[in-house]
Amino acid sequence: MKYTVITGASSGIGYETALAFAARGKNVIVVARREQQLKELKQEINGLDKNVEVVIKTADLSKSDQVYDLYESLKEYELETWVNNAGFGNFDPVSGHDLTKIETMLRLNNEALTILSSLFARDYAEKEGTQLINISSGGGYTIVANAVTYCATKFFVSAFTEGLAQELKGMGAKMRAKVLAPAATESEFAKQAMDVDQFNYDEALPKYHTSKEMAHFLLDLYDSDKVVGIVDGNTYEFHLKDPIFPYVDRNSNN
Ligand code: NAP
Repeated sequence: MKYTVITGASSGIGYETALAFAARGKNVIVVARREQQLKELKQEINGLDKNVEVVIKTADLSKSDQVYDLYESLKEYELETWVNNAGFGNFDPVSGHDLTKIETMLRLNNEALTILSSLFARDYAEKEGTQLINISSGGGYTIVANAVTYCATKFFVSAFTEGLAQELKGMGAKMRAKVLAPAATESEFAKQAMDVDQFNYDEALPKYHTSKEMAHFLLDLYDSDKVVGIVDGNTYEFHLKDPIFPYVDRNSNN
């Protein structure tokens, strides 16, 4: 029995990603703070396929003790894929930041993702077929006005994950590390980023993807040998690419 871990599975891209892996018969471990939403996800998956196991783990991943506790609680399972999807955004000028929100965003988007990626790589880098997929953003490759700090967190995700992918390849490791970089995607993201109760994607945006579409792009990335899956912010086409950032290995003879 092998498992796919998906953080931030209680809504949006993570919820649909759990459904998409389950539709392939993969057992899933779903993580978020809202247990009720995770229970509904489990019910939905079991309604489609009773043979898929769904393990629910509640954790606030902006708290580092809970990040380590989550990983420790998964020692009894054999993991195959880890998707670091939990994250949120913030739209305002840097001079207007609510620093409590920003601290939480840095801890979730960067600290938790780094700790969980490192622990997973430590234990599974040499296991055949393992993959780490970290969710960045188009804003992890282009700085977007009014979202500078959020974009900086996602530049970190892109750089860290591309670098890890290069490092694993250089070591001849079996694990693959990959970055998914969505553009606007219908989910709870906009409400949380803008601190509003309602957000109408059709009225506000000329183009966007649904979370279901994004989960299927994630599976395209999972199935490919490429490191980056990125949505073009103008055309909204999805492209699979080699690493985008320059990478130097000063210890290599190449
Ligand atoms: P979403 O619907 O708001 O989902 C965010 C998920 O993260 C939820 O399951 C939420 O669960 C979880 N989460 C938030 N805070 C958490 C915490 N402290 N501890 C544990 N889990 C936490 O938004 P989404 O669009 O699907 O976002 C998924 C990822 O895509 C994020 O990393 C986001 O930055 C990235 N992304 C989104 C877009 C977009 O336009 N939607 C574009 C580019 C990148 P709980 O609240 O239940 O904890």
